[in-house]
Amino acid sequence: MAKTIIVSNRLPVRVESNEGGELNFVSSEGGLATGLGSVYKKGENIWVGWTGYYPKSLEEELIIGDYLKKENMRPVALTMKDVKLFYEGFSNKVLWPNFHYFPQYVEYNNEYWEAYKKVNEKFCNELVKYISEDDTIWVHDYQLLLLPELIRERFPKISIGFFNHIPFPSYEMFRLLPWRKELLNGLLGADLVGFHTYDDMRHFLSSVSRLAARSVKEQHVENGERIVLVDSFPMGIDYDKYANSAASPDTIAQEVLFRTSLQGKRVILSIDRLDYSKGIPQRLIAFEAFLKKHPEYLNKVSLVMLVVPSRDNVEQYIQMKNEIDLLVGRINGQYGMMDWTPIHYFYRSLPLTKLSALYRIAEVAWVTPMRDGMNLVCKEFIASKLDKKGVLILSEMAGSAKELSDAILINPNNLNKQVEALHVALTMPVEEQIQRNEIMQTSLKRYNISHWVDVFMNNLTKIKKVQKSLEIRRLGENDQNVLIKEYNNSHQRLIFLDYDGTLTHFFPKPDDAKPDAELLDILKKLTEDPRNHVVIISGRGRDPLEEWMSGLRVSMICEHGLWLRPIDGTWKKLKDVDDDWKEEIHPVLDSYVSRTPGSFIEIKDYSLVWHFRKVELGLGELRSRELTSHLKYMARDRHLQVLEGDMVVEIKNFEVNKGAAAKRWMKKNPADFYFAVGDDWTDEDTFGAMPDSAFTIKVGVQNSKARFNVESVDDVRALLKKLVS
Ligand code: UDP
Repeated sequence: MAKTIIVSNRLPVRVESNEGGELNFVSSEGGLATGLGSVYKKGENIWVGWTGYYPKSLEEELIIGDYLKKENMRPVALTMKDVKLFYEGFSNKVLWPNFHYFPQYVEYNNEYWEAYKKVNEKFCNELVKYISEDDTIWVHDYQLLLLPELIRERFPKISIGFFNHIPFPSYEMFRLLPWRKELLNGLLGADLVGFHTYDDMRHFLSSVSRLAARSVKEQHVENGERIVLVDSFPMGIDYDKYANSAASPDTIAQEVLFRTSLQGKRVILSIDRLDYSKGIPQRLIAFEAFLKKHPEYLNKVSLVMLVVPSRDNVEQYIQMKNEIDLLVGRINGQYGMMDWTPIHYFYRSLPLTKLSALYRIAEVAWVTPMRDGMNLVCKEFIASKLDKKGVLILSEMAGSAKELSDAILINPNNLNKQVEALHVALTMPVEEQIQRNEIMQTSLKRYNISHWVDVFMNNLTKIKKVQKSLEIRRLGENDQNVLIKEYNNSHQRLIFLDYDGTLTHFFPKPDDAKPDAELLDILKKLTEDPRNHVVIISGRGRDPLEEWMSGLRVSMICEHGLWLRPIDGTWKKLKDVDDDWKEEIHPVLDSYVSRTPGSFIEIKDYSLVWHFRKVELGLGELRSRELTSHLKYMARDRHLQVLEGDMVVEIKNFEVNKGAAAKRWMKKNPADFYFAVGDDWTDEDTFGAMPDSAFTIKVGVQNSKARFNVESVDDVRALLKKLVS
């Protein structure tokens, strides 16, 4: 039976051994573990990952294995060296700082990279023990970026989802990594790649198109055989868990204890893991500035700061911990009173009851990371506010800021705004607090963790269906046999061949699209057969094609069907079309050339083409969209048509199209075998004009009017070779 397998670096359980050597299993209470519980605990489904423990004996290994099996989990055994180089090294000293925009902390160490590859392979080797082709695999987070491709190599048809829990940096940052291409290729092994925010997704797509040489259309990446869907899925919390915990008698009892110790002081709350991305020292400096600017709050407001220990064997983390200790000491030393401590600082982790009690007593939650994939603390604070009173100050740099726009949003680098935000928060009228929190609570309730799991899984199913629908159209072995048989049994064949992107590669040399020896050989053999009537049907002007096809027995249709030339005949125009419009449109294209270095205009007999293949990547696409909408507006009353091709925008008379020309050709040259192949949307007119029985083939894996899809120019050539062999 098909099953779902979750994979992440860590399993949702921690193994500990006590002094007597007995093993203890502590389940994770984190949101992800809870959310995915609905998946991996069902039926045959499993979660694969590391336990965080190095078994001391074979016996321990067996005990752990038995326990995990009962809990639908499977371990991946990592050595201390693996963890040092792969996890602490590449994951946390390369990917983490780069993805959080701290390039100065990245250690470009090849040993880390080798270990990262090795451990991703280790995960794959472990996984294949459990996988079958109809399973669904959901891989989590930045420690396993290479895993989707590794699984794909062994199971080409399997469903793979990937979710990145941390930010994905902009192209400018990501390209600093020497291993950038391998990392992108690793991820593109998935069918669905998910991020928390639209910006993360945009950054990823930009890196893919610039660094991995894949074609990106909106949210889809063409990756050879497969289309990969990229989307944003902001992760929610287990809303009820936090709301219920806030209402529990234990939490309320704890709250009373806290309030007594705080002697009625108002509370600003700050909770983070120790990390340079969290902006903890910046927050302390802002608190100091706040006390200085607003002495009226001395002895009235305390900052309760909880820092959860993390990675404290790493140099930057040790330094930051020292910096925090110093800052807290300085501020408390300067402002503290016998009956008031400005900052209550805890360097430890607290259980849920105490956390909920803190959420309850805090009037303000101050969450100001320099960069954060999502940030759950701010969402938990809002969910814990049963009376809807309280104010959230949130950094714009947290993924959650995109959803929680009713918080006070600030730039954590802006000290004055931080100070101002604290003052605004502490003086916000209760009605306004309730109004803002109501909106945020409604949204957090709806977009909770189980919603996140469902939406991700549904999208994975959806993209798999799209892939399958394209697969059905793919020209498979059987279709090829039928095609070859019909070809061989026919007496009069009409064969339409588009040129650029179909017979020759458009990239990397668009300027040098001359047919190479292999193509000339194919065309020679194809045209030598007296039963074949080959028509090159292209958007190009007459001159280059006439030159390139000289000596071959081919007919030609150029400029999208304006000019027709039968074998050994002379050029004829399909119809008389006017070209007065060129005078009006040319200056418009000219204005785009002057604003877009690298672009140029090609003047054809009855069309104008704006080329942008030499323009800086991104700028060309931007300008082409602008130009297209400009031209479309002008084209409306002038009977013109705007075509967006590969790195070109073309404008021409409406009545000229490949379909009309192909129709006319077929009328004059009836056949008992029709064949057409093309790659872009101007070829859709040709496909549409062909009889149902024709073999129409689209190059590329997008939807098309053609009956079949092939992947590339190489496939077209291979097919034509088979026909002439
Ligand atoms: N947390 C906890 N105990 C603590 C402090 C925090 O369990 O003493 C939890 C908190 O409830 C939240 C998580 O740790 O669910 C922190 O998640 P967040 O996304 O805010 O930051 P991350 O550490 O994942 O970067």
